[in-house]
Amino acid sequence: MRTPEGFPTCPTCGDPLRFEVLDDERFLVAWSCVNCGLIRTTEPS
Ligand SMILES: [Zn+2]
Repeated sequence: MRTPEGFPTCPTCGDPLRFEVLDDERFLVAWSCVNCGLIRTTEPS
């Protein structure tokens, strides 16, 4: 699920997730929810 801005949203509370770049070279990004503490990482090929 994505917001109109194109950012993923939390599957639990629906708030937009915040992201943090972990690795610029591999485009590894961690997405987190400030409300739930949910964290997931994405690594686009
Ligand atoms: Zn949440």
